Amino acid sequence: MKEHLKEHRFKGFPVSEGIAIGAPFFLTQDEKQIPEFPITIGEVDDEIARYRKALFSSREDLKRLQFDLVHEGSTDVITIIDTHIQMLDDPMMTTQMEEKIRQRLHNTESVFHSVMSDYKTRFSRLSDAFFQQRLIDVMDLAKRILGHLCPNERVSIADIPFNSVVFAQELIPSYSAAAHVSRVSAFVTHGGGGNSHAALIARAKGIPYVSCVDISAIREVVFQCVIVDGQTGDVIANPLPETLAKYQQRKTSLKTSMQILQKEFQYDAETIDGFPVRVYANIGHPNDLDSLSQAGADGIGLFRTEYLFFQSEAHVLSEESQYLAYIELLQKVNGAPVVIRVFDVGGDKSPEFYTANSKVDSTVLGCRGIRYLIRNPGIFKIQLRALLRAAVHGDVRILLPLISDICELIQVRQFIAEVGDELKSKGEPFKEAIPLGCMIEVPSAVLICDLLAKHCDFFSIGTNDLVQYTLGIDRANPMMSDSCYPAHPSVVRMIKMVVTEARRLNRPVSICGEIASNPLFIPLLLGLGASDFSCSPRYIPQVKRAIRQYSLLSAYDLAQRVLQLSSSVEVSHVLLEQNALSNTID
Ligand code: PEP
Ligand code: MG
Repeated sequence: MKEHLKEHRFKGFPVSEGIAIGAPFFLTQDEKQIPEFPITIGEVDDEIARYRKALFSSREDLKRLQFDLVHEGSTDVITIIDTHIQMLDDPMMTTQMEEKIRQRLHNTESVFHSVMSDYKTRFSRLSDAFFQQRLIDVMDLAKRILGHLCPNERVSIADIPFNSVVFAQELIPSYSAAAHVSRVSAFVTHGGGGNSHAALIARAKGIPYVSCVDISAIREVVFQCVIVDGQTGDVIANPLPETLAKYQQRKTSLKTSMQILQKEFQYDAETIDGFPVRVYANIGHPNDLDSLSQAGADGIGLFRTEYLFFQSEAHVLSEESQYLAYIELLQKVNGAPVVIRVFDVGGDKSPEFYTANSKVDSTVLGCRGIRYLIRNPGIFKIQLRALLRAAVHGDVRILLPLISDICELIQVRQFIAEVGDELKSKGEPFKEAIPLGCMIEVPSAVLICDLLAKHCDFFSIGTNDLVQYTLGIDRANPMMSDSCYPAHPSVVRMIKMVVTEARRLNRPVSICGEIASNPLFIPLLLGLGASDFSCSPRYIPQVKRAIRQYSLLSAYDLAQRVLQLSSSVEVSHVLLEQNALSNTID
């Protein structure tokens, strides 16, 4: 029996902040009828060809999605889509499936559907969060492949009505990735924790999200309007006029404070006692930025060129296309410094193009970053040529990822000299002396940063990888996304070591990992001696605001206090306490 027009409140788990007021949209993920019929041995090859085509189209979908996400600035989401792309090469999806089609002699979609259902039954029994996440990913990908095998039965979240609050039992990552902010105003689900891939995507897009809500109970209510509070986890169906008015007011004031915060981009980043700080932008594509002044950035602190390469196929390696992309960026920054990191392939950034072509292992502990480039001088030298030529048109600095040994730096300098000779012999204009920097992302680089300084001109501390390699935590594993980890005393000490050494040896150093955008960490980093930060343009206003809330002296005191602490929990606690205090004073 359905009830009408009574306010109904449901409590869930807040996953992504923000308030939404919209119309409900129930994502039915009911299994559609999959056609099933026997095939003859003579038809097997055609069925397998159809299956391969579906895999190919799914890969194309995912690449397109990845491209859109890069343009939206949701670079954090790329790894999730990468996982799905990699799964397309999993034997379960390739050779084993083809074998099953041969053995069972049934049409491809029915065989595929039955294999996936068996998989689901087996994995649903395992309560371990890792396997649960893997199951969600496989099922998400299976839906996509099935969609290509039975094109008439596809459901697209991209086409749902504007201002919809999407209700679903489970939110699969590709749904949240494909959601347009204008159409999806919030997500409410039964399953899915704060660290699920879909949650990370929702947060990256700024879509409020509440999980752990009883969707079947909510389905019993007839309602046209629903409120979702991503701060408290409240979901209110059919809100009473006074509830609606209250939330409308809260939504407006939240929007106003966001707008006020956005204005911070135009102010100088300066501590209360006048210490100037530089805030640079991290970008993945020249389009991530309309202009530096609009972003409020002092320059580009990190251009992750690998995302540029992911977008295209084989021609990505053309010197000319890279050269034009760098020039485009240099024109936008009007003479400001641009730190261009050479192709950081591998680990969580593994475009199958490169791995398939070069047959190298590119896992997190394998041939990634500078190791990959040194072993693939063909690819590396093309990029260096494009960079040396582009540097004639602006203040270009070259950054090397995952440096762990001086030999790597010496080898890169040798490549640069060779590329310079080639350009000279061709009569191409290029800049000879380009500043060369090392990313500090592994403990070995921290410990030899004084030695590295003899061969490089600047440092950039990549705390995402530094945390991963110091604590042995896979950064791509959602179960390992506890915000405490970057606050580990070992990481704090390492940052202090690098900043202190860099200062002693007169080498500029910037912090470019995620913690550089987190207001909790800003006073600590300032107190440890950091004066250059680089973060996604979206976070520059909040970083500037955090800088303006502290004096250098108070930041120094905080850092001294933190350096005495012995666990990440203690450090996090102190940082939270400090943040609460500064917000009260503010
Ligand atoms: C880092 O590791 O902190 C970093 C900035 O590089 P990326 O996130 O691109 O690996
Ligand atoms: Mg890194």
